[in-house]
Amino acid sequence: MTEPARRLLLLLFLMLAGLGYSYAQVRYERPVDTAPQPQTIGGGYSVPEVQKPLPRRQWLQVLDVGVLALALGLSVWLVISKRSRRWAQFLTIGSLAYFGFYREGCICPVGSIQNVAVALTDPHYSIPIVVTATFFLPIGVAMFYGRAFCGGVCALGAMQELVVLKPIQVPRRLDQALGLLKYAYLGIAIWQAIQPFAAREFLICRFDPFVGFFRRDGFAHMLYVGAAFLIVGMFVGRPYCRYLCPYGGLLAWASRLSKRGVTITPDKELDCGLCTEACPYGAIDKMRAIRKDCLYCARCYSSCPRTNEAALVQIGAPR
Ligand code: SF4
Ligand code: SF4
Repeated sequence: MTEPARRLLLLLFLMLAGLGYSYAQVRYERPVDTAPQPQTIGGGYSVPEVQKPLPRRQWLQVLDVGVLALALGLSVWLVISKRSRRWAQFLTIGSLAYFGFYREGCICPVGSIQNVAVALTDPHYSIPIVVTATFFLPIGVAMFYGRAFCGGVCALGAMQELVVLKPIQVPRRLDQALGLLKYAYLGIAIWQAIQPFAAREFLICRFDPFVGFFRRDGFAHMLYVGAAFLIVGMFVGRPYCRYLCPYGGLLAWASRLSKRGVTITPDKELDCGLCTEACPYGAIDKMRAIRKDCLYCARCYSSCPRTNEAALVQIGAPR
């Protein structure tokens, strides 16, 4: 079985597993335990099924931040130190399962942009420390090591990563022009979020194309948009990440400060150009990975003769 087919099967499996999980768990409770019961109300009254969602326990929220920090550390270690695409893929699948299908896309740094913006501008609005940590952790890591969050941690990125089938190279100028959309979206989303309460809109969450899959629920039109992104994503690597994700824009800025990040060659730089076509995300320019665009997928490593040379030395094969 080919690698793309294996990835699609895995994605299908995870979606089915998530669906099964959603039916197995109790997700709602009655808002008030002492509310009148059907037998005391009489007249054939039955309790409506949909009630308010259970708040997540504090220690579980802290656990989420711990898992995020661990996954970020693993992403850096696997991609920068181990240079292992295989293990980075396992991390991607694990993150999709945890942050996507188990946590149902919430809490997510992408959407938390709006919460942070409101908290900074509205004195009556505050956010829990876990939201603040979730927002800043990936940015902090990006400032030192590049976009490790986008590589194997973000569930939205993972959905798209797993469907890349036959990616085309988008012409650089078009790629750069489309890449500006995410900054426009970032500005509009923040502007809408910091409006007075009655006019406030959380656009990033409302138009999240993948959260409907994670929750096995959502408006039909957004599920169609998500499906369209996944279909396009088979041929244009990670379209939402590259052209629309506002948090990706913030990570791109932060990663410009990083001293370390993906280097295609393990040690001595070559200028053979074999890597130029290897990146499905247009993140290699003049035979170097562009820190702000590199999505930490580790695909380019295998294109480098130095990587293969190092592997041959490791297994003691004749050179
Ligand atoms: S660009 Fe946005 S959606 Fe894509 S992986 Fe990064 S944070 Fe997630
Ligand atoms: S340069 Fe491209 S192929 Fe290499 S790790 Fe970055 S995104 Fe992946």
